[in-house]
Amino acid sequence: MYTCANCTVQACSVRDAEKRPKNCPMEQEALMAEAQRRYQLPENRDFYVTASELEALGYCQWPRIKETIELCLRMGYTKVGLAFCRGLRKEAKVVDGLLRRAGLEVISVICKTGGVDKTQCGIPDEHKVHPGRYEPMCNPIAQAMLLNEQQTQFNIALGLCVGHDSMFYKYSDALVTTLVAKDRVTGHNPAAAIYCSEGYFKDRLL
Ligand code: SF4
Repeated sequence: MYTCANCTVQACSVRDAEKRPKNCPMEQEALMAEAQRRYQLPENRDFYVTASELEALGYCQWPRIKETIELCLRMGYTKVGLAFCRGLRKEAKVVDGLLRRAGLEVISVICKTGGVDKTQCGIPDEHKVHPGRYEPMCNPIAQAMLLNEQQTQFNIALGLCVGHDSMFYKYSDALVTTLVAKDRVTGHNPAAAIYCSEGYFKDRLL
């Protein structure tokens, strides 16, 4: 069992192998070597190096949207997918415009595509936000399939719901980055609830 989240040594960050705890994942030397081998695979090498270089290039200067655009341009992508939540449709339009200004072709698909009522895929009517009414399901599998059909080279997830994002990642052929993680309560800043987990959010987390 690995417990990096509770490690007080963090020997990995200071390259001090002597001090690592007994259950340190770095004890798995064969696994670690295999991970290194996989970074060198043709489908991973350039992507990983390019993504890692961004950290230094825009360190504490570039916001995530800028990093995302730079990653696309430096990877030579010309056609990207934008899978977005209806609740962020205004933001999707802004992002679409910024990507286009950077010279990218953008294929965008909203979460409600298909227009299928939630009950049709097994969600009980009483578990809708507004029971008794038509409520279109989020359709992340269709979002991924449509972007696959359009052969996007890279996909951007914008505000997809928790779990729906997981299904989008699962079915997307292209690699995915998340530009916005949906959090209706914090203005899409999930870290706020973490920072305030012992304060304002204390009674709302568990
Ligand atoms: S990898 Fe090892 S040294 Fe690093 S945080 Fe995890 S347990 Fe600690």
